[in-house]
Amino acid sequence: MTIDNFDFNGHKALVRVDFNVPLDENGNITDDTRIRGALPTLKKILSDGGSAIIMSHMGKPKGKVNAKFSLGQIKDAVSKALDTNVEFAPDCMAAADMAAALKPGQALLLENLRFYPEEEGKPVGIDKEDPAYEAAKKEMKERQKEFSKTLASYGDVYVNDAFGTAHRRHASTAVVADYFGNDHKMLGFLMEKEVKAVDQILKDIRRPFTAIMGGSKVSTKIGIIENLMDKVDNLILCGGMTYTFAKAMGGNVGNSICENDKLQLALDIMAKAKAKGVNLVLGTDCVAADAFSNDANTQVCSVKDIPEGWEGLDAGPETRKLFSDTIRGSKTILWNGPAGVFEFDNFTAGSRAIADAVVEATKNGAFSLVGGGDSVACVNKFGLADEVSYVSTGGGALLEAIEGKILPGVAAVQG
Ligand code: AMP
Repeated sequence: MTIDNFDFNGHKALVRVDFNVPLDENGNITDDTRIRGALPTLKKILSDGGSAIIMSHMGKPKGKVNAKFSLGQIKDAVSKALDTNVEFAPDCMAAADMAAALKPGQALLLENLRFYPEEEGKPVGIDKEDPAYEAAKKEMKERQKEFSKTLASYGDVYVNDAFGTAHRRHASTAVVADYFGNDHKMLGFLMEKEVKAVDQILKDIRRPFTAIMGGSKVSTKIGIIENLMDKVDNLILCGGMTYTFAKAMGGNVGNSICENDKLQLALDIMAKAKAKGVNLVLGTDCVAADAFSNDANTQVCSVKDIPEGWEGLDAGPETRKLFSDTIRGSKTILWNGPAGVFEFDNFTAGSRAIADAVVEATKNGAFSLVGGGDSVACVNKFGLADEVSYVSTGGGALLEAIEGKILPGVAAVQG
């Protein structure tokens, strides 16, 4: 079943969205991208003459009620975005009456699902090493089923539009789908778009295919780097992981971020790329700073020759050209992770050069997918989000999908 050909008229739709939006200390939303992302799905349900029971998590309350993570804080913003008064159910397990009272065109927002440990389905307060852990896990799985059953009872059709959590088998993202027939569960519009974008990267590759992996550490990206090695023509590794590679090759990296226990891994990646004929592109020079600060003194130096007390915080001019030249000629591009500490205005040049080259390649017909929290923040900071082919809302979910894993949230509705 697809959302496009389902008529919600007279139906009560239970919709999992990702409203895990960032809030400031006064509870004001600082970036409403995720709310806007769910609007096409919610508007279709309401304008068809259906009603919507909207459910989401926010933050990590770890199975306990915590006002700091209450979705009540965003009720007004959601009402405004949907242009209708959205009701709020302060306990997601006691919302049956409110859900039943919904009329066509009306919406109800449930309180944060993660106020209950059943949502994530992990036993709380017991160590994995504890002999009683397995029994506790089993018990929690049973409780998760009951929790899901209650959620399912609020609606007669289930829509999953929360790509950000699609890699988790949580109650609201996957287990709940078991209580709906195949013709009464589907992906929302945002999920459909995300899945299509990943398919384009994995199945419909136009070459050359260039992946740009940045960010702070190689250890958190190793799964995807290894997987991409079988697919890409060019693999640009940048950001903090540059210095692990530089040190592995015998360089001096000063105070730069460096994973000393991953030096062999870096050498292995280089050998693997060579064996597979992948053009591995590593930074050659960097902008080094004498402190981890926007106002630090800087100098350009080789990534293998960083003076004591200095640290590489951005790609240098030679590297920027190398990256840009590689990206410009590409026809498929995946970008995850910045090339430097882009949060500091004085260290954005590397990420900016990548963003500009991705935009240029896109103008020349490339398909470009930007995903993973920080690279999205990066293109947003540069105002270039509209000039790449697709900006994913998923971090971990996107990477797992590109690693080729089947996402539980997608599998649960597609069978
Ligand atoms: P990740 O969450 O692994 O994608 O890493 C993103 C973070 O990596 C951003 O906050 C960047 O500031 C940081 N980063 C990128 N380059 C460097 C660098 N050379 N040194 C320290 N942090 C970096």
